Amino acid sequence: MPELAEVEFFRKQWEPGLGKRVQEALIHEGKRVFRGVDPEALTAALKGAKLVDSQTRGKQLLFRFSGGAWIGIHLGMSGSLRREAHDFTPGKHDHLALVQADGVLLYHDPRMFGRVRFDRGKQPPEWWSQLPPVVTSPEFTQARLAEALSRRKLGPIKAALLDQSLFPGVGNWMADEILWRSRLDPRTPAAALTSAERTELWKQARLVCRTSLRTIGVDWGDPPPGWLFHVRWKKGGSCPRDGESLQRAEVAGRTTAWCERCQPAN
Ligand SMILES: [Zn+2]
Repeated sequence: MPELAEVEFFRKQWEPGLGKRVQEALIHEGKRVFRGVDPEALTAALKGAKLVDSQTRGKQLLFRFSGGAWIGIHLGMSGSLRREAHDFTPGKHDHLALVQADGVLLYHDPRMFGRVRFDRGKQPPEWWSQLPPVVTSPEFTQARLAEALSRRKLGPIKAALLDQSLFPGVGNWMADEILWRSRLDPRTPAAALTSAERTELWKQARLVCRTSLRTIGVDWGDPPPGWLFHVRWKKGGSCPRDGESLQRAEVAGRTTAWCERCQPAN
């Protein structure tokens, strides 16, 4: 499932289309990724419109077109964006294709857990404006995090990290990376964190998100050496800090890897 850095990588795939007109918008009408969208309104609004801007927030993407048209995309489990040559014929899973003079911008999604939204207006759509602040933004303050964690009476800290209203765009591997760097056992109740632990978690969450955007988000590169990322998938992987065998268990419904020595249980 794409996490925030992969989403940023996909946003960049459409960057060559910025400032250029859409000659034609082709969509797979009736597919569930377009639920709630009027296909004729979408294709009519995009025909002849210029792609003027693109942004990501966590796992959400927003594309602004001239004439006050907005396309929002959530990639779901298996969605991706790419660009092909002008004469490319969209395939069965290319549900949205924006044909431009020198290329085609494609949204591809075989499993269709993603979603395409269409809005009109001068301002960004309301759903976008209401998204929670992303971890790398100035609005993601220590105070906000402390307040949100104190409200979670139940549940492990790992579940809090996967909560998209609190850490938008953070998925399973990033959550494990943040906890490992913060030296927190993933099973620790979120509300039980000390003030010092919350501060460390806030710092490491920002660092992991920023660094991922800089590495994976730019060219699908790997995170820096020494990250848990490189060993957490392997059976029998060991902690990059101390060589201790990693623990693996289901926490918050997801396979979780951690080091018992670095992240001792309370
Ligand atoms: Zn360790």
